[in-house]
Amino acid sequence: MNERLTMTKDVVIIGAGSAGSRLASLLGKNFEITLIEEHDLVGEPVQCAGLVSPRCIDDITHKSKICEINDFVLHSPSGIKLELHSKEPKGVVIDRAKHDSLLAESAEKSGAEIIRKARADKIDVSGGSVKVTYRRDSSTKELSSELAVGAEGPRSLVRKYVTEEKPPLVYHGAQVTGHLKKDDLRDAVEMFLGNRIAPGFFAWKIPADDCTRIGLCSLPGKTPNQLLSSFIRSKFPSFKEDSRQAGIIPIGPLSSIANKRAILIGDAACQTKPLTGGGIYLGKCAAEMLAGSISSEGAVIAAGELYEKRFMTEFGRELSKAWRLRKIINEMSDRKLEKAIEVISDKKIISILEESGDIDYPANLTGAIIRKMPQLMKFLPELVRSGF
Ligand SMILES: Cc1cc2nc3c(=O)[nH]c(=O)nc-3n(C[C@H](O)[C@H](O)[C@H](O)COP(=O)(O)OP(=O)(O)OC[C@H]3O[C@@H](n4cnc5c(N)ncnc54)[C@H](O)[C@@H]3O)c2cc1C
Repeated sequence: MNERLTMTKDVVIIGAGSAGSRLASLLGKNFEITLIEEHDLVGEPVQCAGLVSPRCIDDITHKSKICEINDFVLHSPSGIKLELHSKEPKGVVIDRAKHDSLLAESAEKSGAEIIRKARADKIDVSGGSVKVTYRRDSSTKELSSELAVGAEGPRSLVRKYVTEEKPPLVYHGAQVTGHLKKDDLRDAVEMFLGNRIAPGFFAWKIPADDCTRIGLCSLPGKTPNQLLSSFIRSKFPSFKEDSRQAGIIPIGPLSSIANKRAILIGDAACQTKPLTGGGIYLGKCAAEMLAGSISSEGAVIAAGELYEKRFMTEFGRELSKAWRLRKIINEMSDRKLEKAIEVISDKKIISILEESGDIDYPANLTGAIIRKMPQLMKFLPELVRSGF
């Protein structure tokens, strides 16, 4: 059955993940907002390790906080450990499902409508408004709005209306949640480098109160689930697995994130950190910037243009640096990774990382580190060629 609704909304947001629900919660009071979400239960299934910076925790999301992280341990391919301890917590582990459901709750409280179990499958931007077609209960429905926001994650539908580009790199991730019998570093977040462990990325172990999350991402064409199983067998043989999650992370810059009435935020816009794959913080900032732009300009094309400009001004430099570093790291052999860890294990570098390291702006410190350790340039001439 086809049903055509002529009621015009200000903004239709596709996807009630953390970015989409936050945007709806910021705009719901003053604008007609509809969120279309394919799942019944917002936040499920979880496809996330749930490590964020303290900046991601606010009045809406604080109940999703599980624990704070002051200790980070980086393992080289051969097992050399680089340990970092900070006085103030630099990370927070969250219950991601709860985090997203709190944001959706806040969106509804603010006046936004969430249509659950509805999958958007087409938008039409050819007229003086946007038409979003979605399927729900085996019927096709249509909504008309001034703006359509693609907040529907890595496999975005709206992206192709904004740009012809595809995400430059897509990581495939796998994670297990379970229990470790014995854990000497139970309060630390650990990261494991090595092309045999996680080609082109890293594996992680994250404490989450009474359980532990172990996961990894790898380049396309590899098999993250098999890599993860063999990683756990070799490093954590006593691990008892309760559940397994999987997901993808789009990485790298898109030259455009808004085109007329179609706008992208979150993973749909590739707003993820190239060095760590984290996307919750950038999605939060993007939602805030877009909400600010719509609040000042109205639900009009100019709001999308303003948002794009603001996002690039705030994050363009950091993301472009991090993307260049990511490409350099992805070309490194295990021997070179080993040497890099050895070089940055210097006391001076460790104190820079412990004092000023920031998981939201990891590339920001590259300049300061190179100034302290000019030999890095000799060891990695790629840094010079890449303009660091
Ligand atoms: C294994 C793994 C670990 C990660 N760990 C971290 C981490 O520790 N920290 C961090 O910051 N980030 C992490 N990330 C990245 C993070 O999960 C994403 O950046 C974040 O989820 C992006 O939020 P979003 O709201 O843009 O999209 P999503 O969270 O993907 O939300 C999109 C929503 O839209 C819905 N949807 C999709 N298509 C449609 C459609 N056509 N119609 C209706 N609804 C639709 C989806 O079901 C979903 O609910 C991880 C990712 C993976 C895969």
